[in-house]
Amino acid sequence: MDCAKGPEGDELNSHHHFDHLGGLRACAAEGATILTQAAAKTYYEKIWAQPHTIFPDRMAKERKKAVIEAVTEKRVLTDGSRTLEVYKLAGTNHADTMLIGYLPKEKILIEADVYTPGAPDAPPPAQPLAENVNLYDQLQRLKLDVQQITPLHGRSVSIEDLRKAIGKSSAN
Ligand SMILES: [Zn+2]
Repeated sequence: MDCAKGPEGDELNSHHHFDHLGGLRACAAEGATILTQAAAKTYYEKIWAQPHTIFPDRMAKERKKAVIEAVTEKRVLTDGSRTLEVYKLAGTNHADTMLIGYLPKEKILIEADVYTPGAPDAPPPAQPLAENVNLYDQLQRLKLDVQQITPLHGRSVSIEDLRKAIGKSSAN
């Protein structure tokens, strides 16, 4: 597989749930540095150290050791022209290991599972979802000027869609 390496050759792991883990060991075997939240680092180091004898993957076959770097609260990656800021998402019940990405130049937020936009003409949820509200609150706390949201599940939307989903109009 191809690894979506970041500007510094890193692979960013949003959180530790299985649907966001596929290929991580393959990337590590290719020599990518795995960037993950501090709590997930300990977890990966523990389970990846176990023998993989039934279906040994490349990491197991080549006896490679993963390079994993922990993001505690914030990390900034840059290639000189573009910048990706990585933050630990506080307050979420989805996963203690949740990281979000922010492209300050493009004003784009990248997130997984804490906001999955509905269909374009679907009404907002009758009761705002706690995870959506928390995401919005954390964006304010971190003072991120998000204009567009690119979720890892679903379609890209504007910040206005998130505001509507939690019952805030642009006047609020
Ligand atoms: Zn998840």
